[in-house]
Amino acid sequence: MGLDDITARVRKAEDAAGRAPGSVELIAISKVQPLDRVEEVLKAGQRVFGENKVQEAAGKWPAFRDRFDGVTLHLVGPLQTNKARQAMELFDVIQTVDRPKLARTLARLKDELGQCPDLYVQVNTGEEDQKAGVSPEETDALVAECRALGLPVVGLMCIPPVDEEPSLHFALLAKIAARNGLDKLSMGMSSDFESAIAQGATCVRVGSAIFGDRVY
Ligand SMILES: *Cc1c(COP(=O)(O)O)cnc(C)c1O
Repeated sequence: MGLDDITARVRKAEDAAGRAPGSVELIAISKVQPLDRVEEVLKAGQRVFGENKVQEAAGKWPAFRDRFDGVTLHLVGPLQTNKARQAMELFDVIQTVDRPKLARTLARLKDELGQCPDLYVQVNTGEEDQKAGVSPEETDALVAECRALGLPVVGLMCIPPVDEEPSLHFALLAKIAARNGLDKLSMGMSSDFESAIAQGATCVRVGSAIFGDRVY
């Protein structure tokens, strides 16, 4: 199975980068994967997962959580404000805060629910039109606004453009995080997680390399 192999590669990349063993969290991205593959990875001991759609996650994770203790779930896809309440109830971490309107909705729901997942601000480091995320220039202001609203922002997340060298984007994200006093960096996927770890990733989001190709 892919999980053991990827876990070993994460440990090796930590070591190569002079990072402490276990300092990088592996998030298994289970979107679209058949339930039997997800169950196999749960049975192998993995407990941290990510999904990119609220609806899809709501359809599978409550049942898995009944059967497996200690699951932590991250939202790594775009969040519409009308799904924010459901997302806050379902996910432990929301990695895709990317605009003031969403931040204000999350702050209102935080007061109402008396709780809030840990939040990451998603940065569109490649400034791609079709991609979610706040632009690099607007990131400091959005982080400040989230903080002023009392939201628990813990880090930054990015998805580099497919056709560019990812390490430049990872370095940019690390720089923006440092100047904002943020410790956590969510960066690196199946094809580039080792490079992300070298640049300071504290969590990597790996899907197909663990579960196999997604069949849509
Ligand atoms: C699907 C997805 C991943 C995982 O991609 P792989 O290439 O399968 O590892 C990581 N991050 C986000 C935001 C995703 O949507």
